[in-house]
Amino acid sequence: MTRSFAIKSFGCQMNVYDAERMSEALQAEGMTESGGESGEAADVLILNTCHIREKAAEKLYHEIGRISARAREAGHKPVIAVTGCVAQAEGAEIIRRAGAVDLVVGPQAYHRLPRLLAEQAAGAKALVDLDMPALPKFDTLPARRRRGPSAFLTVQEGCDKFCAFCVVPYTRGAEASRGLDAIVEEARQLVDGGAREITLLGQNVNAWADGNKGFGQLVEAIAALPGVERIRYTTSHPRDVTEAMIRAHADIPQLMPYLHLPVQSGSDRVLAAMNRKHDRAFYFGLIDRFRAMRPDLAITSDFIVGFPGETEEDFADTLSLVEQVGYAQAFSFKYSPRLGTPAAERDDQIDEDVKSERLHRLQALLQEQSLAFNRRSVGQSCDILIERRGRQPGQWIGKSPWLQSVVVTDPTLSVGDLVRAELVSAGPNSLEGRLLTMKTAA
Ligand code: SAM
Ligand code: SF4
Repeated sequence: MTRSFAIKSFGCQMNVYDAERMSEALQAEGMTESGGESGEAADVLILNTCHIREKAAEKLYHEIGRISARAREAGHKPVIAVTGCVAQAEGAEIIRRAGAVDLVVGPQAYHRLPRLLAEQAAGAKALVDLDMPALPKFDTLPARRRRGPSAFLTVQEGCDKFCAFCVVPYTRGAEASRGLDAIVEEARQLVDGGAREITLLGQNVNAWADGNKGFGQLVEAIAALPGVERIRYTTSHPRDVTEAMIRAHADIPQLMPYLHLPVQSGSDRVLAAMNRKHDRAFYFGLIDRFRAMRPDLAITSDFIVGFPGETEEDFADTLSLVEQVGYAQAFSFKYSPRLGTPAAERDDQIDEDVKSERLHRLQALLQEQSLAFNRRSVGQSCDILIERRGRQPGQWIGKSPWLQSVVVTDPTLSVGDLVRAELVSAGPNSLEGRLLTMKTAA
């Protein structure tokens, strides 16, 4: 009998990508994916975890407890596999604390999931695979089978930057880039599966390199593939920005006018303590260079408030940086101490209520900026890539070039259409578009 599986994925886009690849690897072995509500009844349940913030491990144990209780009620014990960054960080401890877990597999070892599941089915117990060789998993994973208009493609993994707050260098390992040819081949497979937009992914995607080729050339190579109509990338690190990457925004029409460039703080004192390796002036310099090349660029960022030792004056510097840049969107988080990172050891941790209050002020400003950015788009005509149905009949939701969600109403549309629309109204999180012409159907 074929075994069924379900994957519950948490965290960043790289985890979404990893979950897709795990799914493809298991399907290639004849297993079937049961999604949605029926996921809980699958024979194998995979929890693809994120460790970046807050009590990730506690949440995982809570989730396993919930699944086990439901399984007991239903008289069905699924095989439970924990993958992703909590698996890497906690290892065998997960099996010690949660007896219901059968397998623990790190993010560099998930290509071995089919083999580990076969060993488990043959009677092996408590399997833990945390091997971290960079990249070979990509050589052994099956070809892409994903169908859809917008696809993720991991080109670089890991990080050597060791920001004082961050677990990524410990959970995802050293920085490593995939080879250009393998990436182009995967992009081709995604286009064959219906992708019109490809988002290149990496913890520091613009650190990508293959010999003497850098990120700018990678974007060029993807743009040269017939069928690739839109290219995006995330996340970029300020220190890895190159002139070729900035120029690509002017020279390569498929490269969307969108840049996610996390700064974390606007205070030079805090940036130094974070070991970010850039200061505020350097960041402003980059923003100016990008905007000179592509004035309509939507710029987004990540912020951490309440890093140990952050004063009210430091926080005011963050607000002033936000004022000066003018963001289209941003993610902002309260600093969360992560075991094993230098910042977690500091004795000048900030009170939770101070963090909350600062986060509230920062988010109010960022929300104002998002609304202003969206309102400035009203009256423009642009291409919208339709990604899914909206709530109302005939309603569709797609993305503008600036990654805004745009609602378009027309019963003749379908997922994958690239249509021209005039943006007619805007809120902080989405806009409404009036269909002008069907550009090209999927
Ligand atoms: N490599 C990217 C960079 O340097 O900008 C960021 C990748 S990290 C996976 C995504 C975001 O999570 C970071 O930009 C940061 O804002 C946030 N983050 C990481 N560690 C954190 C922590 N300990 N507390 C709060 N936020 C954190
Ligand atoms: Fe984490 Fe810093 Fe590396 Fe980004 S650059 S992944 S924040 S250590």
